[in-house]
Formats: sequence, structure tokens, C-alpha cells
Amino acid sequence: MAVLEGLEFGKSDFVLLDEVNIEQFMENLKLRFEKARIYTFIGEGVVSVNPYKQMDIYGKEDINAYRGRELYENPPHLYAVADAAYKAMKRRSKDTCIVVSGESGAGKTEASKYIMQYIAAITNPSQRAEVESVKNVLLKSNCVLEAFGNAKTNRNDNSSRFGKYMDINFNFNGDPTGGHINNYLLEKSRVVQQNGGERNFHSFYQLLRGGSDDMLKSLHLHNDPANYVYTRDGAVATTSYNDRYSHNTVLSALNVIGFSEEEIHSIYRILGTILILGNLQFETDRESVLVVGMEDVSHIAELTSTEPDNVTKSLLYRTVATGGGEVIEKGHSEKEACFGRDAFTKVLGWTHQYKTIYLSSNLTTTLGLHDRLCHINTCVCVSLLFSFEQFCINYCNEKLQQLFIQLILCQEQDEYKREGIIWQHMDYFNNQIIVDLVEQPHKGIISVLDEACLSVGKVTDTVCLESMDAKLGQHPTTPLARWVRTALYSVEGFLDKNKDPLFQDFKRLMFNSSNPVMKEMWPDGQLSITEVTKRPLTAATLFKNSIVALVEKLSCKEPYYVAYLGLLENVRVRRAGFAYRQAYTRFLQRYKMTCEYTWPNHLMGTDREAVEAIVTQHGLQDDVAYGHTKLFVRTPKSLFTLEQERAAL
Ligand code: ATP
Ligand code: MG
Repeated sequence: MAVLEGLEFGKSDFVLLDEVNIEQFMENLKLRFEKARIYTFIGEGVVSVNPYKQMDIYGKEDINAYRGRELYENPPHLYAVADAAYKAMKRRSKDTCIVVSGESGAGKTEASKYIMQYIAAITNPSQRAEVESVKNVLLKSNCVLEAFGNAKTNRNDNSSRFGKYMDINFNFNGDPTGGHINNYLLEKSRVVQQNGGERNFHSFYQLLRGGSDDMLKSLHLHNDPANYVYTRDGAVATTSYNDRYSHNTVLSALNVIGFSEEEIHSIYRILGTILILGNLQFETDRESVLVVGMEDVSHIAELTSTEPDNVTKSLLYRTVATGGGEVIEKGHSEKEACFGRDAFTKVLGWTHQYKTIYLSSNLTTTLGLHDRLCHINTCVCVSLLFSFEQFCINYCNEKLQQLFIQLILCQEQDEYKREGIIWQHMDYFNNQIIVDLVEQPHKGIISVLDEACLSVGKVTDTVCLESMDAKLGQHPTTPLARWVRTALYSVEGFLDKNKDPLFQDFKRLMFNSSNPVMKEMWPDGQLSITEVTKRPLTAATLFKNSIVALVEKLSCKEPYYVAYLGLLENVRVRRAGFAYRQAYTRFLQRYKMTCEYTWPNHLMGTDREAVEAIVTQHGLQDDVAYGHTKLFVRTPKSLFTLEQERAAL
């Protein structure tokens, strides 16, 4: 029961803190980190601190040590949580999920990779080829997702700029049979612009620096990222990421995952198209706007299998239906043309990586893995103003936090029911109030935003802010200040980003591509002009819908997590009931030597009776409850008493 390993390592479960407050929490975390203990339990979850150096704790022996063992038999580790989730799924045929959350750079992506490796290592003992291939695909999918969805930021050289949810399906033997991956909210704006010192998505640099001469030639590209507006600024950024090497790894992973040659070519053609589009310039000659450099246009047409004339047309004009139903072509201004081009490349960047990776799935039980993009939430300094994207991410965090507290409560409740222990009502901080503030129909922030986006007159960000003030100024979130620090948002750009307009002309251009892979990505392009005059859903609403769907998916699963949000709340919930529980057999093994009835000879009938004898001998009977198979201990103090007794022998 290593959860109580030497106190010089701090408390290996936060539930065992003497008092739940931030000071004690941090002190324990720091102490453990100084002793190279990067993981600490909170019940069945684990808190992790990024060591920023290779730790020797992920080897084969480590995997074997955790395999099939109970949570508290080993020191806290990702493997303990992964094993608990896997076992629960296998034993009770219940869908489970592991949520990995934390700030940018916290180590979520690395953690999900270790969890996947663990699951891969402990499954398929009979080495069946088809299971091996599923495992291979699951493991390889990471590098592809990272190439297209990760970028160097100022906080993390390999920052995931999207949220990722992966389902792995298992058969009755507990071997993986398939899975699929969903992505949320790719940071599209990065395709056209990056902050100082940051880069575009890795895939662009990989292609330019690692692509063969033939490949680059066929894409009409030069090999230096400094040649392209979209990669120019990032070209000088130093990064630990090896672009040249990664290109080949990604190419071979695409093959393993099952992309066809045609699909792989299309992906790289789209990357090429984006880079060339970014270099396009427009000029005004008398009243009309022209593209500078028609050679680029013909390259774009070639790469997208469309007609050069149509490319030019979609860049310079937009087709609109008049009130009378007449269809006319309206020329762009230079500014509109640039805006349209950037909107187009952003969507191209998103569409090509949007293809979710599906594998064969004869679904029995699943283990979901969610690597959540989440940068903020705590360290809020007043000078920092949050953007629209971060608003979406924060909303996602609030929603998941709400779900998790609820799920943990349910999980506890279920366990008590299974064990025949009486459940006591528990008060907890309900995040619903914040979630409502964002998503309530008609009244929530998203509704107010959407309304502003849909109104005909000239609505500015400031007008929209005033409307929010009027509708939400009285919102009863004041009592929350105790729990959540205030987040300040700059409303600038909220409306434009929420509208996220892409001229229909580009969709039609791509739908008419003779490349079937590309055509398939743009089904909207077949809509007639009059049909599309209906407003498309806004970015915030689309995001909300996907998060609501995600939460629905997660809410029927049993949660395990590598967490960072709401940690104290989590400890409180765990402690409000029974902090600690242990199967009778194991408890007996650990403490039998502290009681005359159980040592040296086990004089009692059943294990449960023996445990009762131990508990009573130490006067702990008021602090425990007896379940069908487990002993439940209310406070950590009792365990310390027992540990001390044991150590004194
Ligand atoms: P983002 O939200 O930006 O995607 P993240 O939480 O996914 O961030 P990671 O990319 O997993 O962060 O971690 C950032 C870096 O920290 C890694 O590239 C690696 O160098 C280091 N790191 C993370 N976890 C570990 C670990 N367990 N051991 C050693 N180094 C680690
Ligand atoms: Mg990441």
C-alpha cells in the first residue's frame, strides 16, 4: 500500500491532507516534486507535474508493476489510473474515459501517449495480428495529429492547437479492436498568422524542409519556409522539433493508418495550395481588383484540380442573390479579396485535417481518452485580455469541470450502492451557473453574440458588449469570486470570429474539383445561391454543439483523470464521504500484524471479521463502514494510526 509510503515523500494522495486548503495542497505538491515524485493521487485520479526531463519511470518493468494491480498498491502513476480505467471497463463491461486536462505545456499530450503505450503493452497477450495492427494505428495516429494540429508556441514547442477525443473500442477479451478520434476547435487563425516567436503548424515546415526535391517540385514549392508569407515569421523560430526527420515519420504513419496514396497526395497538395495562396497579392487597376502573378493562380488550379479562371473568379468576386431572387456577381475590394483569401486558407487548413480517423469498430466497451486544450483558467493576470478562441476554450473547461464533479459523485454513489453503504447527501460547488451564463438560449453570452452577428445593421463589437451588459449585467455570479478568479476578455474581434464567414464561391470552386478527395471535403459547395442565403451557424454555436455532444458522450462513462482543474473541489468531494477504501483481503494483509487476533494466526472466520477485529482493537470503529467486500475509512487519521502501529513493530 504504497499510498502511505514514507512521509518524507509527502502525502501520495491529496485526500490524506490534514486540511484541504491551497497552502497545504501546494506544499505537498512541492515536497513531492523535490523528491522526484511527479504524480500524486486524488482518489482514483492523478495530479501530475511536468518534470521537463526524461524520467526513468515508464519502462517495461514499470508497466509490469502496475499491470492488474489495485490503485494503491504502487506509487501514484499514470499507469495506475490507466489500469484502473481499463480494469473497470473489463470487469464491469462499463465504458470508461480518461480525461487529461491542464494548462498549455502541462504535459497532457505526453501523458496521453504514455497511457496509450500502457494500454498497448498490456493488451493482446496472444499477439493476434489484427489486434496488433489496430494498436499500431492507434499509436501512429499521434504523430499525424501532431503534425497537422500542433505548433511551436511561446509556452510549448509542441503545443496542441486543438482538443482531441479518442475512443478505443475493446472486445470481450479486453483487446482493442478499433477506435476513432474527434478533434475540436483547431486554432484556424494560426494558418495565416502567428504571434512573435511562434510558428505555423508543424506540417508546413516538415513538408518544406523534409519533402523530397521531386515532391516539392510537383507541388511548385521552394524548400525554404522563409519564402512563404504564412511560414516566414516562424521560419526563424528555434525549436526542438526536427522538421526534416518528422516529415518521413508522418508520411509512413499516414500509410500505416490507412490513408490511400491519393489521399496522401491530396493532403500535401492542400498544404501547397495554402502556402501559394498566402503569397498571392492583389492590386487595384482603375476600379477593378486584379491578382498579381497569374503563375501562382495556375499552380493553385493544378494542385486543387480546378480551372484557373474559376480560381481567379472566386478570389475576386462573390456571387450573391438579390432581394428579388436575381443572382449577381459583386467584385471584391482589395481588402475584401485578402480577407476572402485568408478565410479560404483557414478553412482549407481545417478541412484537410478534419478527416477523423476511423478504424474498424465492432463496439463492445470503449475507453475514451480526451486530451483537452486548455491554457488558462487559473493564472489570470489583470493585464491579460482573453480572446474569442480562449473564451471558447474556457467555456469547454467549465463544462467539463461541471460534468466531472457530477460524474465523480455518481461514481462514489455507485460504489456505495454496490457495497451496501448508506449514501449521504453531499454539497458541492455547482458550476452550472457559469455554464448557463455562456450557453443559455436567448440569454447566454453565445446567444447575445449570435444575435449581434445576425442583425442587419452595422453592429460593432462595442455595441454587442453593451447588449451583453444590458442582458447579463445582473447575472448572479458574484458569489463565485471566492472560487474563480475573474477572467477579462477583450471583445475586439468577437463578432468577426463568431461569424467566421467564408464566401460560398470558394466552396463551389472546391466542390467542382476533379479530385474526388477534395470534392468530398466540400459538400456545401453544391448548394444553390438562394439556398445559402440562409445564415450558416456561427463559430460559437458550432463549438457549443460539439462540446454538448462531447459531454453527452462522456456522461455515460466512468471517469478517470489526470487533472488540474478544480483540484481542491475534487479533494473535498472525495473526503466528504469516505476518503479511503480497501478490499478486506488486502487490508488484512497490510495490517494483520497489528492485532493479536490476526497475528501470527488468523483466528477469525472471514476476512471481514478479521478486519473488524483490527479496527476495533485500535478504537477506529466510529471512523469506518463495512461494505460487502471493502472497508471504507472516513478520515486519513485512522490510516496513519494503523501505519504507525505497523511501523512500530
Ligand atoms: P498543450 O496544451 O500546449 O498542447 P500539453 O499539456 O499537451 O500542452 P505536452 O506537449 O504534453 O504539453 O508537454 C510539453 C513538453 O513537456 C513536452 O514536449 C516534453 O518536453 C515535456 N514533458 C511533458 N510531460 C513529460 C513527462 N512526463 N516527462 C518528461 N517530459 C515531459
Ligand atoms: Mg498537447
